[in-house]
Amino acid sequence: MRNPHAGIPFDTSTAEIAEALQDVSIPTLMLSLVHITKNPELIRGALKPAGLFLNEVQGYMSEEDKAAVRSLALDIIVDYRDAGCPETEPVSDALLHEMMNWLVCEEVPDEYVPMLREEMGLEGEDARSVETKTSSAAKADFPVLVIGCGESGLLAGIRLEEAGIPFTIIEKNAGVGGTWWENSYPGARVDVGNHFYCYSFEPSDQWTEYFAQQPELQAYFESVMKKYDIDPHIRFETEVLAARWDEAENHWRVDVKTKDGTTETLSARAVISAVGQLNRPFIPDFPGAESFTGPSFHSARWDHDVDISDKRVAMIGAGASGFQIAPTIAPNVEHLDVFQRTAQWMFPNPNYHEKVGPGVQWALRHLPFYGRWYRFLILWPGCDKGLEAARVDPNYPDQQRAFSEMNEFTRQMFTDWITSQIPDDSDLLAKVIPDYPATAKRTLQDNGAWLKALSRDNVELIRTQIDHIETDAVVTIDGTRHLADVIVYATGFHATKMLSPMEIIGRDGVDLRAMWGERPAAYLGITVPNFPNFFCMYGPGTNLAHGGSLIFHSECQMRYIAQCLEFLITEDYATMEPRQDLYDDWHERSQREIKMLGWSQPTVKHSFYKNADGEIHIVSPWRLVDYWGWTKEIAISDFIVQ
Ligand code: NAP
Repeated sequence: MRNPHAGIPFDTSTAEIAEALQDVSIPTLMLSLVHITKNPELIRGALKPAGLFLNEVQGYMSEEDKAAVRSLALDIIVDYRDAGCPETEPVSDALLHEMMNWLVCEEVPDEYVPMLREEMGLEGEDARSVETKTSSAAKADFPVLVIGCGESGLLAGIRLEEAGIPFTIIEKNAGVGGTWWENSYPGARVDVGNHFYCYSFEPSDQWTEYFAQQPELQAYFESVMKKYDIDPHIRFETEVLAARWDEAENHWRVDVKTKDGTTETLSARAVISAVGQLNRPFIPDFPGAESFTGPSFHSARWDHDVDISDKRVAMIGAGASGFQIAPTIAPNVEHLDVFQRTAQWMFPNPNYHEKVGPGVQWALRHLPFYGRWYRFLILWPGCDKGLEAARVDPNYPDQQRAFSEMNEFTRQMFTDWITSQIPDDSDLLAKVIPDYPATAKRTLQDNGAWLKALSRDNVELIRTQIDHIETDAVVTIDGTRHLADVIVYATGFHATKMLSPMEIIGRDGVDLRAMWGERPAAYLGITVPNFPNFFCMYGPGTNLAHGGSLIFHSECQMRYIAQCLEFLITEDYATMEPRQDLYDDWHERSQREIKMLGWSQPTVKHSFYKNADGEIHIVSPWRLVDYWGWTKEIAISDFIVQ
């Protein structure tokens, strides 16, 4: 079978190929040419990127150099087409590393190469799938229940199906996608580049935008679900209420409630929680909110039956969701008041709303390994550099402003981006420059849409604290009544109350959420002592604030979980749970580490990463390469097995 990344053979006309090459990332194209020609000399000459910086996918190559590459490429690609698009040979390890270094204009450290190689799967392999040695009879006796069918629950289903382990996925919504099902608010889009934000084994060359909008993301997960035939295993519109460990039978008993209110108890030998961290909307308790007579709803429960056109809309909260909503609805409403407690730092990204042109789509589909190298190109800047940049220098003089020299540089860059968009004498300027260090909260992607929206005549940014809500207005503490027909709460989620509101009861009646309180922990973010055969995906300490993608993390976690299940079934053990000492040590080390990072800074007053005591337990302080290495293969000695 042809390597799926080697490109679909084509008979595109020479003129159309030339046209397509106008759009593509030229450095990425060069690497595809190396595969086609088997000639590494192509990247050893003068034509090379001059340095890549995050979103700059052309490597700052001059127009002249880009034209030279296009001309060279056209000849090579036409010959390749005329030869029938023969499948290319894999490149050697040494050349692969050289190509990596060349593309990102720096030495990719040796320790990263195996991880990146696996992520790219250049030989068409799906290295994170778990090979199974167990008989189907043994597996039949090991049903697994997965809670949630967002990206991680769907991935769990795919891996369990591959392993031949019987499973059921319980999903509270009527469709697949989790966050990408629920967040249908206007302007919802992903802010990790989509050619990386998709399963490594199921890339999509169909993305119509570099940062796709919600309907396209939901459709992606739906199509993957159908392709892998996972839907027959999913019970939609069914919610898990509780899961209890049955000590006598070594089973989980899981209470579920269907849409019509019927309850039922299911049994499983193992449970995988794939509920995510951001699925229970949070609405602050503003006095008088219940007296508001107009429609009001949370951003993740957008009421599409409410016509907001020509209405006065009050949007309370402007984090990642509000930041996308305001620019999208501002042109359609009569007036928009944006109530923002804390200003946000934003990262300039001109590609943020850009469409993927037909030339790039053609290259992704047809040019050998173009899509794989493009994936590498956009993932590399988010590969642990953000973590280094988040490290606090305790001796840096003005911690309110910046927590290190590098952080001061970032602050300058972000400030320049803001000031370049607003006149110096604008009242807006003072309201939009954050008063805490850059990147210390989740940084937003921006192409200028946010400040453009705030600069409109029908939009006001209100930074004064809300006092209460009345029948027809939001009232701030200065006594101003801001009239509103509709209130949108873009106020985030109960992120620190992990697995809420489910009741999870382990050995000896231990209640997981009571045990955790607002300090959730799991060994490697996955397993918890006293909760045998219970596995978390996107669990405590695994949210990513420094880069990467949650899909990458999910793939690491699910490989680990699948190995655990395979071990239990093959070796005929009933249960496994992590050693208490390792769990305690992991939590302590994670806490020590995260306290040295910018997100923990006391200068950040409000952040959904923090619990009520200002501690962070939901975010990973670890490098991707370390997490990948730690989860690559289970160590049985880490567990108590029975
Ligand atoms: P969020 O980032 O937590 O923002 C919540 C907003 O509500 C903030 O402005 C917050 O102010 C405000 N708020 C909360 N409680 C308040 C109170 N009592 N009074 C006044 N204001 C209050 O939530 P979100 O925007 O829903 O985003 C959550 C996460 O979802 C993101 O960080 C991201 O991980 C994910 N997300 C991703 C995307 C994407 O990929 N593009 C888009 C949307 C969401 P403070 O800042 O002062 O706390």
